[in-house]
Amino acid sequence: MTDPRITTDCIFCKIARGEIPAKKVYEDGEVIAFPDIRPQAPVHLLIIPKVHIATLYDATAAHQPALGKMLAVAGKLAREAGAGDGFRTIINNGRVGHQEVYHVHMHVLGGPEPLGPMLQRSFSARK
Ligand code: 5GP
Ligand code: ZN
Repeated sequence: MTDPRITTDCIFCKIARGEIPAKKVYEDGEVIAFPDIRPQAPVHLLIIPKVHIATLYDATAAHQPALGKMLAVAGKLAREAGAGDGFRTIINNGRVGHQEVYHVHMHVLGGPEPLGPMLQRSFSARK
């Protein structure tokens, strides 16, 4: 029987299975965390569920423990990585969200100095 948690060509599934190296900073039964390969801040970790979920559109109640764990460990991992005075979490979804890797992942961004604004304004708000 095919295990729905296992996909063959997803880069983050490969990291979760240890087939692509990543410097894991955290692992438990549900999630793994590792530094982003192209950091956009002094602290830039990715927290991913071990189970393959392409986007949050695909998330179901069954994924709640893994998705909850991603949030539950973020603060501890941010602090341990050197972001003890605040950090930002981002989950990009789909085309509009500029998602690059279609396996849900939470960016944990921080550094000694405050990050830039959350978003560059890219639209005109209408009244
Ligand atoms: P997205 O735009 O999908 O939210 O972000 C995907 C992130 O995954 C990017 O920040 C990118 O640098 C990171 N990334 C892509 N491939 C790898 C990889 O093989 N290893 C690690 N550590 N990060 C990766
Ligand atoms: Zn995957």
